[in-house]
Amino acid sequence: MSTQMSKDVGCPHCGAAVRTQMWPGICAQENPELRARVLDETMFDWKCPQCGYTAQFVYPCLYHDRDRKFMVYVVPNGSGSEFRPVDVSEKFPQLAGVRKRVVSTPAELKEKILIFEAGLNDYAVELVKYALAGVLERKHGKKTIQGYFCSADEEEDQIRFTFFPEGRDQLVERSTRLEAYQKSLEIVRAAGIEEANSFLPVDSVTAKSLLEQYRGEEK
Ligand SMILES: [Zn+2]
Repeated sequence: MSTQMSKDVGCPHCGAAVRTQMWPGICAQENPELRARVLDETMFDWKCPQCGYTAQFVYPCLYHDRDRKFMVYVVPNGSGSEFRPVDVSEKFPQLAGVRKRVVSTPAELKEKILIFEAGLNDYAVELVKYALAGVLERKHGKKTIQGYFCSADEEEDQIRFTFFPEGRDQLVERSTRLEAYQKSLEIVRAAGIEEANSFLPVDSVTAKSLLEQYRGEEK
């Protein structure tokens, strides 16, 4: 179920108290227009009607796709409420088998939606992204700050990502063959990962430890 609330937010520029609509809960089926706003990256846009100041206003928000069975919890960094994994299985037994992820930015929420809507396994996608980021880093000698899944196309046999290398304004697009995803999926299966009962991050840190575990077992 989607939940809506409004709250006065102080404009950081002129100080005006701006009544602001917030959606602490988004259901993709109930409010497809909110799903569209997450995907076009306007969901958390905020504008002061007094002075025209614009900013992103990100607040804790739980996105739920009932049909595709996944939930993504946005917990912004520095929101004051440190994320603690919540065991939801006792309170919500109906959530067994639902993929539950935690992210800290709207861009990461969008990425999870794209991955799950494409029917992909996000652990395996993170492994492919981790490998491509490593190639980029070695090529440019710069750290990759962020990378995001964009799309996967079976006909073109491509899985695509965008990366933001350190010290560069422009994003870099990279793609590889779906074979890389299939191989990653084997690594994920070999690790025997099961859906947890709590909300977990699945990101580059997860990919790194999965890979280390896999290589450790290979030796
Ligand atoms: Zn203002």
